Amino acid sequence: MLELKIMNSKGVEILKISNKAKLITSIVGKVLTAMILAGSLLGAIIFLEYRPVYEVSYGGENLGYIGSKKNLQKNIDNYLKYGDSENVGYVILKEKPEYTFKFAKKDVETKDEQVYAYIKDKCDVYYKVYAVQSNDEEVCRVETLAMAQEIVDKANEEQKKFTKKATLTISEAYEKEVETSTDIELAVADIIAPVKKLNAEITKVYNTPAAATVVSKEILDAMREDNRELHFSIPVQTYVITSRYGWRRNGTEFHTGIDYAAAIGTPIYASEDGIVTCAQWKGNYGYLVKIQHTGGFETYYAHNSRFAVNVGDEVKKGDLIAYMGSTGRSTGPHVHFEIRYNGSHFNPEDVL
Ligand SMILES: [Zn+2]
Repeated sequence: MLELKIMNSKGVEILKISNKAKLITSIVGKVLTAMILAGSLLGAIIFLEYRPVYEVSYGGENLGYIGSKKNLQKNIDNYLKYGDSENVGYVILKEKPEYTFKFAKKDVETKDEQVYAYIKDKCDVYYKVYAVQSNDEEVCRVETLAMAQEIVDKANEEQKKFTKKATLTISEAYEKEVETSTDIELAVADIIAPVKKLNAEITKVYNTPAAATVVSKEILDAMREDNRELHFSIPVQTYVITSRYGWRRNGTEFHTGIDYAAAIGTPIYASEDGIVTCAQWKGNYGYLVKIQHTGGFETYYAHNSRFAVNVGDEVKKGDLIAYMGSTGRSTGPHVHFEIRYNGSHFNPEDVL
């Protein structure tokens, strides 16, 4: 048993600590009290001198301090979701910003706005635009669907007058830089120009003598857009063949076509699609219809009594073009039918 007695000068006991445990408790208590006091003081000093901030870094680059991590992250999340304008398709931020909690001097500069601006700048923004295609080739990009539709409508109205039309489509597209056209008339003109050119070239092919015609693949493709090859048909429905292609029996005359005989006024039909290049009197042929087809082919229909077409008419296979007659050098009602390739006749029966 340890006893600690403290007495005054007269030997009177003034303090006695008779318990070891009591002594330790007392010391610990005092130390703790001192520590709490010191801590509070330190806390007070920190609170007065420092404040909590976040240090932000992006891609290894220190961007400085911000006051509110919550606000910044909310702003970033919103921006990634919606961008900052209506035509934003999507926003991509490759890396995540990193935050480090710190106490910094109370007067330290926080740059919430600048840090947000910096991170926005690091985002890849894809804008939603509308692309107008003509025959699957992009013509222009515009900001709204309404504008794209207006271009398509106007172009379709303008190309009504052409035989070969472009197929116009609209599709959504995304791009980082908004490079859209705002000139509707210009876009329409861009669509119409090639349509006009192609139609002019096709007309030229049809109207040029077969022997002088060189048909480019582009034009041929356009003319045969259904991948339809030429299939000539006999130009009358009921007939008797009275003369075939080749040398006549007398051996001095060559018959350049085939004669189909029927009654006067029997309808004569176009053997293939084409353009009428002749509907007039041609000497021995009498009233002759000539049709120019693609690829340098021509068909002749001779000795008609009456025409049902005019020069320049575009005809489809099977269209009525004339009525049978016996005009020109003819011994009875029939149609003299020829097919020519690059100006040269050949036996129509080879391709019928
Ligand atoms: Zn004949």
